[in-house]
Amino acid sequence: MAKYGMVIDITRCNGCYNCFLACRDEYCGNDYPPYSLAQPMTGHFWMRIIERERGRYPKVKVAYTPVLCMHCDDAPCIQASQGGEVYRRPDGIVIIDPEKAKGQKQLVSACPYRVIYWNEEKDIPQKCTFCVHLLDAGWKEPRCVEACPTGALVFGDLDDPNSEVSKLVVSGKIEILHPEYDMKEKVSYIGLPKRFIAGTVVFGDKDECAENVEVTLIGEGEKKTTKTNNYGDFEFEELLAEKEYTVKIDYPGYGAQQFSVQTKVDVYLGEIVLT
Ligand code: SF4
Ligand code: SF4
Repeated sequence: MAKYGMVIDITRCNGCYNCFLACRDEYCGNDYPPYSLAQPMTGHFWMRIIERERGRYPKVKVAYTPVLCMHCDDAPCIQASQGGEVYRRPDGIVIIDPEKAKGQKQLVSACPYRVIYWNEEKDIPQKCTFCVHLLDAGWKEPRCVEACPTGALVFGDLDDPNSEVSKLVVSGKIEILHPEYDMKEKVSYIGLPKRFIAGTVVFGDKDECAENVEVTLIGEGEKKTTKTNNYGDFEFEELLAEKEYTVKIDYPGYGAQQFSVQTKVDVYLGEIVLT
C-alpha cells in the first residue's frame, strides 16, 4: 500500500495558476462520492497560491507558495471530528466525508493551515483530496501535479525509496511550511522564501557601476563573500529572518564601508557610493 505525499519546489513555481485551474476544472460541478461533492464556482481555494512581494524598488521579487491540505499524520481536523466524518485512509489521504460532515462548520477552524472551506449551499466543509478518485482509478498523480508545467509539484509514494518524492524527502532540502504546528505533514517544501540583503555599489569618482567589488556578510556563526556584478549589484539570499548581520564592502583604493542590517524584512541597502 502506497503512502502518498507531495514536495513543492518553490524555486520552480512561477505563479502560473495552472494547478489552481486544474483543481477548479476537476471539482467545480463534479461530485466524486464518497470522497467529495462539487466545489462551488467561487470562494474555494483547495489549491491556493500565496503571493508575497519581497524587497523594495528596484530590488523586488515575488515568491509564490502553493498551499493545499497537508494530509497530516497528526491532523487536528480528525481530532475535531465527532463521529468519523474526517478520517485517514490507509494510504495517508485525509478525507472529509461529505455525507457525515453535513452541518459541521466547526471543522473549518480546526485546521491551522486554513485549507478547509465551507460550502454554504451544500452545508459541508470541503478541502483537497489529493484527487483520490483518480488515484483509485489508476492515476499516478492529482490533476494539479499533472497540470504544473515546471515540475514544481512532485507527488508519489513516500514508502517507495525509489520514487522521486521520496528522494526529495531524504535530500536534506525539504522544509515544512509551519513546523511549529507539529502535525507530521505529508506535504513539504523546497526553497521556502527566507530573507535577502542586497545593494548596488557605485564608484563615486567615476559615477559608474562598481563591478567586482568584494562584499562580505557576517552573521551569527556564518560568513559569506560575494562580488558585485557588472551593474554593481550584490545579493545574499536564503538568510534567516529576525537576525543581525554586518555587511562589509571593500575595494582597493576606496574607503571600506560597513552596515548593520536586521532581517525583519528583505533588505535593499540602496546605492552605496565608494569614495
Ligand atoms: S492540513 Fe488541515 S485539513 Fe489537511 S489534514 Fe492537516 S489539519 Fe486536516
Ligand atoms: S502549476 Fe506549478 S508553476 Fe504554476 S502556480 Fe502551480 S505549482 Fe506554481
